[in-house]
Amino acid sequence: MSNETTPNNSDSNTCRVCAGRTLELVRPSTIRRPLSEVDFAITDPNYGTTAAIYRCRECGFLQCAQLSDVLQYYQTLKDEEYDSSGQHRLHQAEKLLQTIIRYKKSGKLLDVGAGTGYLMQRALAHGFETVGIEPSSWLCDKALVKGLNVLCGVLPDPSLNPPYDVVTLIDVIEHVSNPVEVLSHIAGVMSTDSVGVLVTPDVHSLAARLTGTRWWHYRVAHVGYFNHKTISLALDRAGLRPISFSRPAWYLSAAYLMSRLSVYLPSYLRLNPPAVLNRLTIGFNLFDSMLVVFQRKSTPLHTVAGK
Ligand SMILES: [Zn+2]
Repeated sequence: MSNETTPNNSDSNTCRVCAGRTLELVRPSTIRRPLSEVDFAITDPNYGTTAAIYRCRECGFLQCAQLSDVLQYYQTLKDEEYDSSGQHRLHQAEKLLQTIIRYKKSGKLLDVGAGTGYLMQRALAHGFETVGIEPSSWLCDKALVKGLNVLCGVLPDPSLNPPYDVVTLIDVIEHVSNPVEVLSHIAGVMSTDSVGVLVTPDVHSLAARLTGTRWWHYRVAHVGYFNHKTISLALDRAGLRPISFSRPAWYLSAAYLMSRLSVYLPSYLRLNPPAVLNRLTIGFNLFDSMLVVFQRKSTPLHTVAGK
């Protein structure tokens, strides 16, 4: 455990995207107790709770500047609720694969932040050769039990065998305090023929602006908040170039969705969802996430990877 109110990094005054040195506080911390790995669970329901958020005056990037050493929480993370929602997360992974195969129909796929391997499972079913990398040893073990080729750790990893035809980074980049470095490592395992796919919340989306500080992506685990401009800049600084933006849908169980929406209701209206709703998959799109397809900047501009 550590106290997030104590700056523990000499770079806490530097923008993690553009390296600008002028950060302004836009939202004080709403964390009221020492942090632990529980706050970093994928299914954490405490929407609206974040460390202090600062905006870079130069590029507009929003970051939790004092939360810089978060990897430790992921290494010890356990999330039973995430693992029990497999059927719905496989459905979501399949939708992502349908986007990926528009660019690459086969080859080697690296999933960064692989979790328990749902995306790898669907990629294998489509004929890709897959490897995943995941910092949580608990999530890694779940993936290994499924027989998946997952490495427990973070990039760079010497046992990887680049280049990879497809590199995926799904709901990961908002969790790291060194986004340009992570994207640079990804650029390093791509060739000029490779394609990358990332998904991250869009802090400039209408849903984010309408729900304000109660937006469901404002949570402790999210230490960076991107929009179209700042994710493009982060990619650029890592030697990458976006080639397509879209709005991915989410697929969750009806029970999970109901319990999460209930946090927006007064307590007397909150009901426990019936068990039957666990088996029902609901797709919905609030148009508040970005799916970005990217390639290396050294790829000739006229080349659309894999087509
Ligand atoms: Zn900046």
